[in-house]
Amino acid sequence: MHDPENEATTNTSHALDDAQRTASGDMPPTELRAALHAAADTVADYLEGVEDYAVLPPLKPGELAARLGGPPPEEPEPLARIMRDVSAEVVPNVTHWQSPHNFAYFTSNASGIGIVGELISSGLNANAFIWRVSPAGTELEGITVDWLRQGLGLPDAFDGVFNDTASISTLSGLACARQQATGDAAQTGLGEAAPLRVYISGQAHSSVERAAMILGIGRDGVRKVDVDDQLAMRPDALRAAIAEDRAAGWRPAGIVATVGTTSTTAIDPVDTIADVAEEERLWLHVDAAYAGPTALIPQMRRYFRGWERADSIVVNPHKWMFTPFDCSLLLTRRMETLRDALSLVPEYLRTYDGKNAGRDYSEYVPQLGRKARGIKMWMQLRYFGLSGLRARLQQHVDLAHELAGWIEADPDAEVLFPVPFATVCFRMRPRRYAGREGEPVVAEALDALNEAAMNRLNDSGRVFLSHTRVKDMFVLRLAVGNIRTERRHVEQAWQAIRAATRELDGGTT
Ligand code: PLP
Repeated sequence: MHDPENEATTNTSHALDDAQRTASGDMPPTELRAALHAAADTVADYLEGVEDYAVLPPLKPGELAARLGGPPPEEPEPLARIMRDVSAEVVPNVTHWQSPHNFAYFTSNASGIGIVGELISSGLNANAFIWRVSPAGTELEGITVDWLRQGLGLPDAFDGVFNDTASISTLSGLACARQQATGDAAQTGLGEAAPLRVYISGQAHSSVERAAMILGIGRDGVRKVDVDDQLAMRPDALRAAIAEDRAAGWRPAGIVATVGTTSTTAIDPVDTIADVAEEERLWLHVDAAYAGPTALIPQMRRYFRGWERADSIVVNPHKWMFTPFDCSLLLTRRMETLRDALSLVPEYLRTYDGKNAGRDYSEYVPQLGRKARGIKMWMQLRYFGLSGLRARLQQHVDLAHELAGWIEADPDAEVLFPVPFATVCFRMRPRRYAGREGEPVVAEALDALNEAAMNRLNDSGRVFLSHTRVKDMFVLRLAVGNIRTERRHVEQAWQAIRAATRELDGGTT
């Protein structure tokens, strides 16, 4: 268990003396071995006791900087002293994403095997920009992108690449949309031609608009299409928006449909949207950053119907597939367009020795240097097998449904949106307010009650929840998705929410 004092003493033996450092310029191998063993203990101890930490650390902004800041270290410090600060100051003062009590946002978390894979990659310092600089990293990326593609049930026309984040995968998808719409904007820029337009629902993630900002499409070039009652994009409204824009001199370029929106995990009707994209010859990018991993489960594929017709798709293993941050999968049926949109090969990256028959992934991403994420992914996929991943995801979906059932059965609470995946959107609504939610004073009281309950719980450290505001309501979100979360954690969270609301509402519920 977590014991900074004890960890500090065990690490003392790993201190470097200055003479050793001067000779090697770095840790000598024996010291490195000992330091890695100590770090492994720190991580394993941490994970063993992670559920005992308050999910949000009791730290005020600037507090840690005041304790650890000051002038830069001019002289080398002993490793033991650095590790003591890691244990005493860093570990307890992170937000514990690895905690099974963390239900906020989408609960990005890392499996043990993923952590081991990340360590191996760091040890190799694998940078997979061209095949020659990382043959194994490159080939494992090819293998695992394809394993994931098959696991997700997508046709072999899809190929792809790992990026750091969905933001960069979506940027790349929209760079393709821009390339297709303009002929060759990568070469010519946008020039004086008609401005480009991209279509999303108002529920799409902000990364789409940011991509438009970066690509010269601009936020004005992003049109938010109306949604239905379930917050899904309306294809009829999409069609009408495109027609209206064409008449007004815009150049429609692409559509981004979301399966599993950030706020409420709403699902745009991808199949019908794909009809529109085909008729209008627009690039269709599907953002399944959060929900995508559930397509590993054949019964869940009904929510993804039509995504096989997309031009590009993003799925984030670092969000809900237990892969340590970072890892985002971009799949596309049009690798050549991705390359046209992003590739630039200077002379110094060309190889003429016949060893460049492999793929150079940097031609398919916005940057040059890139982590070899295939290594950890290959280790993780082998360790769990697709069946292991399916089982864990299914467990999360089942737990979320069970929670939704408890909420529905409680006369003082209500589930507000469907729960296709493992995120439950709900609010506490003491029964004396039932049927009066439309009254402004009641709406305000409910918002205030739910916000106060969330803050109280988050301050307590027993659970971490986040919220959204939809249809002018303050909505609580509880996302199950941590590999360490069990039924008891969800049950504790629900009881804590009920208790907090009861206390705040004067014990009347
Ligand atoms: N798309 C969706 C649906 C998301 O929920 C998020 C983040 O939560 C993103 C994209 C952005 O992900 P990233 O942080 O990997 O850029």
